[in-house]
Amino acid sequence: MPCPHPLEPIYRTTHGAVYRCRGCRWVNICFGPIILAYDTAGLFRFARLIREMASASGNGPACAERCHYLRTPDRQIGFAFTAEEVRELDALLDGAAAMLDLEKMLEETLGPPARRPGPS
Ligand SMILES: [Zn+2]
Repeated sequence: MPCPHPLEPIYRTTHGAVYRCRGCRWVNICFGPIILAYDTAGLFRFARLIREMASASGNGPACAERCHYLRTPDRQIGFAFTAEEVRELDALLDGAAAMLDLEKMLEETLGPPARRPGPS
């Protein structure tokens, strides 16, 4: 379920957006009619999975069928994507993962945002 708390945007493409909850720090991945909520580690795992699907489907002219299936740990829910959707979702998750990586790197180097020297 998407978070009931205020969300901040992490990354956006023309096809979707990733937000992070200011309350519980979970990320909400909005893509088409789907909203998925994960903790940060979950987002990275999901991004890797979609990256593998995107690599497997290749860059060639793909059929427009929803023939790329993704099982989820919840047996009641699965996804069927077109090759194009897999590439779009991959781009969205790749961007969001990069932003989270960058943020982590900045925090390790400069400390938490509150303690960073401001612009002078
Ligand atoms: Zn939340």
